[in-house]
Amino acid sequence: MQLSLFGGTFLRLDDDGTPLPLDDDERFGTAAKSPWVAKASGFDVHAGVTVRQGDREGLGRLLRYCARPPFALERISLLPDGRVAYLLRKPRNNGATHRVADPNDERVRAEKGAKKVLLRNVIETKFDLVMRPIAERVLASAQLPLLSADAFFNETLFHELSHSLGPAFTQKDGKKVEVRAALESSHSAIEEAKADVMGAYNILFMIKRGEFPKDFRDKLLVSYFAGLFRSTRFGVAEAHGKGSAMQINRFLEEGAASSTPAGRFTVDLAKLEASIGRLVHDICMLQHAGDKKAADALLDEYGVTSEPMAKALSKLEGIPVDLRPIYPLAGE
Ligand SMILES: [Zn+2]
Repeated sequence: MQLSLFGGTFLRLDDDGTPLPLDDDERFGTAAKSPWVAKASGFDVHAGVTVRQGDREGLGRLLRYCARPPFALERISLLPDGRVAYLLRKPRNNGATHRVADPNDERVRAEKGAKKVLLRNVIETKFDLVMRPIAERVLASAQLPLLSADAFFNETLFHELSHSLGPAFTQKDGKKVEVRAALESSHSAIEEAKADVMGAYNILFMIKRGEFPKDFRDKLLVSYFAGLFRSTRFGVAEAHGKGSAMQINRFLEEGAASSTPAGRFTVDLAKLEASIGRLVHDICMLQHAGDKKAADALLDEYGVTSEPMAKALSKLEGIPVDLRPIYPLAGE
């Protein structure tokens, strides 16, 4: 999640976080009227405060103000609709009490980019307690040595980075809209699948450029494929689960992976690499076109629990679906 108030809006909220009506729309703020205030490069520059020579206390106050962090954690809250609210120091003239922003606002991504925070110890623990036990039951034993914690970590990292790549806007009825608005209910599953498969694609690209060692390729391909079974356990009713089912079934159809009757999978490394490229292409093109019909069709056909998948999933009982990190410093 990225926190930026750049794309947000001013709202008045009650105690439960429900927006209340405002006197007027102050959404885009009013132009500064004071001669001491100016807007420059996204900052409000304020020259109305002076510290006189020798005023050590005033200087201390100013320094504390300059040194404070940009956000105070205790003023941030999460609203029931997933948006982030930041409590204002004092209500605005129209009664607005909070600045409210959507963490996935594409306008922010388009103008400012995105920042991601990943916790390596959480991902490594997920690998040990969830990923490895799954792979041990669904991969053919000959390919199990290619399973790699490092590949799992990088696939997770590049999944997140890939959410910030690709088409974000498209056309609908002659107007520029976010891809999510065009693809509607199919957007989340398509976007999660895109992040997975484009993550793998980008790592393969980095290997070709020499940013990762050559022998990372096979590990990445096998670990990425096995990782899809981890996500399908969230269920095909959920975006990550539906997105990974779609990838698995595409790869099975294209011969990039095959399974034994006992539900163990073998990856065809060359074919999987080619399939990854095709799927990235297909998803980006339908997002670019805002083609909801194509998105629905792709998910209807492939985002389902196919027979080989069901067999594999039935063997995973007893392995945790996911972990919930505990943050002791936050009082947990
Ligand atoms: Zn994602």
